[in-house]
Amino acid sequence: MVVVRMNQQRRQLSGMLEWIECTLAAHRSEVCTVQSLGFTRLPQYFSAATLAAAKTVVIPTIPVPPLTMMGLSEFADFERMAPDGITYLDTFFVRTPYARDESLHFHELIHVAQWDHLGPERFLTAYAAGHMQSGGYRQNPLEIMAYQLQAAFDLRSPPFDVVARVKRELDALHPFG
Ligand SMILES: [Zn+2]
Repeated sequence: MVVVRMNQQRRQLSGMLEWIECTLAAHRSEVCTVQSLGFTRLPQYFSAATLAAAKTVVIPTIPVPPLTMMGLSEFADFERMAPDGITYLDTFFVRTPYARDESLHFHELIHVAQWDHLGPERFLTAYAAGHMQSGGYRQNPLEIMAYQLQAAFDLRSPPFDVVARVKRELDALHPFG
């Protein structure tokens, strides 16, 4: 039984990664780097290399994976959320009205750092576990981290090395280590 469940999770995980690769490939020509957007406060919190590596796409409707079709019925609420931004690997999508919203870009850059530090499989597993165990989007530890750091950015707290902070906080969370 445990083996069956693990095989199913493995299939869902690879289905998800495949969907992400296809989605990113479909929007490759619309991508630009965060650095090219010329935000003035992000460079105080992220290195030039990080902002040059992170990519973004402005889009009327955010592409969300067909999670329930993949058998992940626990994520029906997530699928219905119609988010303003979402991050897949090193690329995030931003809904058109938020194209110049520096705070939202900051939030999504936290997720880029999470994807990078955990790696795709561990990120997806941790995000799904966090979503199910905490009972929803805003209680997910990976979202709590993003919203807390975003709040510090919004309150104009003194600049800090965000990527180093994300790595530290991820390493302190279980069972990611
Ligand atoms: Zn988020």
